[in-house]
Order: sequence, then C-alpha cells, then structure tokens
Amino acid sequence: MKREFTPKIKLRHGIVIYRRRRRWWLFGIFALLILLAFGFYYIYTNVSVSEAVPNLVGKSLEESNNLAAQEGFKLDVSKEFDDRSEGTVISQNPKSGELLNRGGAILVVVSRGAKRVLPEEVPTNIKSLPPTESEAEEEDDEVLGIKSSEWVVCIDPGHQEHANISPEPIGPGSTTTKEKCRGGATGINSGTSEYKIVLQIGLKLKDLLEKEGVKVVMTRTTNGVDVSNAERAQIANRANADLFVRIHCNGSSNISSSGIMTLYPSRNEWCTPIYERSKKAAQIVQQELVEECKRQDKGIVSQGDITGFNWSQVPVILPEICFLSNSEEDVLLNKESFQNEVVLGLFNGIMKYLELRI
Ligand SMILES: [Zn+2]
Repeated sequence: MKREFTPKIKLRHGIVIYRRRRRWWLFGIFALLILLAFGFYYIYTNVSVSEAVPNLVGKSLEESNNLAAQEGFKLDVSKEFDDRSEGTVISQNPKSGELLNRGGAILVVVSRGAKRVLPEEVPTNIKSLPPTESEAEEEDDEVLGIKSSEWVVCIDPGHQEHANISPEPIGPGSTTTKEKCRGGATGINSGTSEYKIVLQIGLKLKDLLEKEGVKVVMTRTTNGVDVSNAERAQIANRANADLFVRIHCNGSSNISSSGIMTLYPSRNEWCTPIYERSKKAAQIVQQELVEECKRQDKGIVSQGDITGFNWSQVPVILPEICFLSNSEEDVLLNKESFQNEVVLGLFNGIMKYLELRI
C-alpha cells in the first residue's frame, strides 16, 4: 500500500488525513526554478551589464560624449578654469578602467580655459586667455544641452557716491521703513569708499559673465547715481534675473573682524518663494569666494529686514566681501590682484548655481 509510506496526521475525532507528498515535491522544483530565474536576472543586471569606463581625460567634451555613449554611459559635466584648452576634460570619476553599470553617469570636469581677467590690468602671475572661440563654445553647450545665453544675472554694486537717507518701505506694503541707500564702509587706512570697490568688482564680473554668454543687467555702472535699494530689486525683477547678486564689503567697529560672509533672505512674508534658491546660491557663492580668496569663512546668514531682498522676486544674495575696517583686508580690497580673485570666486559660484538649473 502506497499510503503506508506517507505521514499521517491524526485529528481529534479519529479522522486521519494523508499528506500529499508528491505535490510538495512539485512545488519545491517550481520554487527552485523561480530562484534560479531570479539568480540569473541578478547576475545579468548587476554583473554582465557593467562596463569599463573609458579614458576621457585630455579628450574634448564632444569626443567624451561619443565614447561614453558607446558604452551606454552618460556624462555629468561641470566646468572649471584650467590651463588646458577650453572644452578639454580635466578629470573624471569613476576613473578609466573602473566598472560602471550601463546607464550610469561619469562625472567629468571640463576646462573653461585659463582664468580670465581684464586684459589691460593683467597681473603678471595670472595668465590672460586667448580669444574665446565662441563657436566651439556653442557646440559644447549644445552637447551639454545648456544655452548659457538664456541666463540673466543682475549685478548690484552696493551703495553709491551720495547716500540717500529718505525712507522707503523695507518690503511691498510694509509700514517699516529704512533709508533708500545708506552710505557704505570706508577703508580704515586707505580711506577708499565701499561703493568704488564694489563697482570695480561688479564691472569685472559683468565682463566675465558676458564672455560666458550670460546676459548681465547692472543696477548701476557709475558712482554718481541715486538708486534706492527697492529700486535695485525692481531692476532685477524687470530683468527676470536668474540671480540677483548684490556686492558689498563689510565694516565693523571691531577692527579685528575679517573674512567673507554671504547674506540671503529669510522665509518672511515676501521672500518665501525665493528662499530655497537664494540659500542654495548663497552656499555655492560663499564656498567659491572663500576658496578663491582664501579668507576666513564666516558662512551664510539669512536676514529678513533687507529692503533689497524683500522687494526682490528673483533669487538674491549679498556677499559681504571682507572688512574695510580691517587693515589687512583694506589693503587687499584695494589690490587689483585680490579683486580679480573676488571676481573669479563670484563668477565660479554664479555659474555653478546657474548650471544647477533650479
Ligand atoms: Zn555695504
């Protein structure tokens, strides 16, 4: 009798049922097949589809794009100044020969070309650039899907030659007022006014951004103007700027205070819509400024009572670049070479922010 070999389960009232062992065997085989199928699928997706990353360093961006595409990779591109010619890949991650899953992204850093400064005042230690090959640049941008000419940056060199202390609301509809345009800081030894230094920096920054294809709108290009802080923000609004950059130098009664900080708006009744983007821009620009200028990092600070923030409908930051009240930084701010570093830091930060496309 077959059933003699099958296990029995005895229920309470003397009823005996027999287990059907053969069906369990069938189920076991079926489960094993499924496991095998999953196993092969895992191996297929995780092992056999990885490819060695090609060497892209030293190649053009276009060539790199083609090489990456051949292996099923994408490129994630950022740009930096470098002595290698514009559009050349400087570094990559993962490195050549390392394995990467198909569809994965290789991070590449591409040269923007050598550091650019205003040609007539080039310090000997900074190389000037050969003329920009705008066609090649456009080609690269097409590869990247970036059209830098779409971008608008509004630059606001802080203050002006004559302060205007008549009041204006600190935000649309506010009963709280502040002076339309306060006087700025003054160099503790040099006596140089903040409005002069920040205009010099602002105009250099304008040149650099325009060479990169960015449209620049200035709130002022001379010192003898009368433009209130609310009006400055409205200039940025009318330009529909991707970023509104208000350049200032700091001043303090404590002459040992030094370093760089970047202000951005608070989440108040006016600035909530631009809060996140402004904060991101502040973080990036602050980091680039500190890196380029090698001054103390005083971090980013949000402020709710700044007229030029509260009237702004576009992301806005206010880098406070060093202290004119500090004798060492007063000397630096009056130096062409240091101003160039400031301009580069601002430029790098602004471009990095714009390239995030947030
Ligand atoms: Zn200022």
